[in-house]
Amino acid sequence: MERVLIVEDSLTLSRGLSRLVSAQLGMEPVPALSLRAACQLLDQADPPFLAALVDLHLPDAQGMEVLDAIAPFGVPTIVLTATFDDLTRREAIKRQVVEYLVKDSPAVADFVVRLLTRLDRNRRQRVLVVDDSRLVRHALRTLLERQNLRVTEASCGQEALALLEQAPDIRVMLTDFNMPGMSGDQLTHRIRQRRKRQDLAIIGISAGDSEELTSRFLKSGANDFLTKPFSDEEFNLRLMQNLEYLEHIAELRDTAARDHLTSLYNRRYFFERAPALLRQTPVAVAMLDIDHFKRVNDTWGHGAGDEVLRQVSRLILAHLGDTGMVARFGGEEFCALLPRTGAAEALERMDHLRLFIEQTAIVYGDEDLHITLSIGIAAGEEETLDQLLRASDEALYAAKEGGRNRVVDRAPAHAEAWHVREVPR
Ligand code: GH3
Ligand code: MG
Ligand code: MG
Repeated sequence: MERVLIVEDSLTLSRGLSRLVSAQLGMEPVPALSLRAACQLLDQADPPFLAALVDLHLPDAQGMEVLDAIAPFGVPTIVLTATFDDLTRREAIKRQVVEYLVKDSPAVADFVVRLLTRLDRNRRQRVLVVDDSRLVRHALRTLLERQNLRVTEASCGQEALALLEQAPDIRVMLTDFNMPGMSGDQLTHRIRQRRKRQDLAIIGISAGDSEELTSRFLKSGANDFLTKPFSDEEFNLRLMQNLEYLEHIAELRDTAARDHLTSLYNRRYFFERAPALLRQTPVAVAMLDIDHFKRVNDTWGHGAGDEVLRQVSRLILAHLGDTGMVARFGGEEFCALLPRTGAAEALERMDHLRLFIEQTAIVYGDEDLHITLSIGIAAGEEETLDQLLRASDEALYAAKEGGRNRVVDRAPAHAEAWHVREVPR
């Protein structure tokens, strides 16, 4: 679990911040009531703290003394101060703190949550910096790394294009305007032929006061721009805004791809993603259906039925892991697509799953419900998705006809071989 150091001598404030960190972020708050205590904790911290929230008025140190003592530990530092004072703010920013915030402003709690979320997520985020000046690249790298971001540099447009091709995980690019060979807006335009704004955020950096450059960047498809000179604060906020936008879009996409009740992928997403998986032959398609599910609803109520669907989905997902894609196709029917899986392996794995579900009690209130699955499989190298789906559906029908709680391969000969005792409910 991520740990956040809280350097604050007021017990009330320290507790308030601790609650914020644990309740809203699920991180572990570690309080330090003095600078001495903070330095000891920082010295022993392994793994290092995600960040430190630091008050500048402590019993054993004041103001910049606090920051100078903490700086050598290299922990991302967020200053929380009682009163706003522009000189102190500037001094603090000079010492490379992540943010300087005034405690009593009502928005501060929300902002601290946003900042800590960013610092946490940024470690998995790579940013491409494109500028022909090594000095500028270095300055931007420093700013980005202070926000826990990983940085890749390119000195011209061509190099940037090549890097993006190699590393599709890059989701943010900062680019200069004036560069030899290809200008920032030309580069942006080229990238937009392949990657959309919700997939790669491009922030143009235009020198000087030319309004024209800004609009050229935006018209070429940039998400945002910064005009030089900009403050560290503005830079950080723009970056944060753009990263949040990407995440927001990703969340919306994920929600649209999933079934509301079970959180499994939905049918629509299944058909969207299937073609890519289908190329990894042989491919197995398994159609899974809960046996006598109607009885669960009739006996225990619709709520129990919903809970069974949720838990069975979780079990299927846990069992198949990320070896394939599982979707809820309809009511109590699921479909699994397993790439690089032949018929024999699919049969074995699905029978494992069948047995696993049979032997795992579904807990609903005080009741243990027992559920079984019928599964139809079709595997192949050449067939279309439609053909595989139809064949596995027929096999599922055969499994139901054969008495349920069994796996049937599309070859009817297998039906007997995989006959399994049906457990009485
Ligand atoms: P079989 O073994 O032949 O598959 O029988 P079954 O009862 O499982 O299948 P049937 O198709 O007769 O009934 C499925 C039931 O699933 C009917 C429907 O009301 C119920 N159902 C569909 N979606 C949901 C849901 O989201 N929640 C709940 N609780 N029930 C659902
Ligand atoms: Mg330049
Ligand atoms: Mg059923």
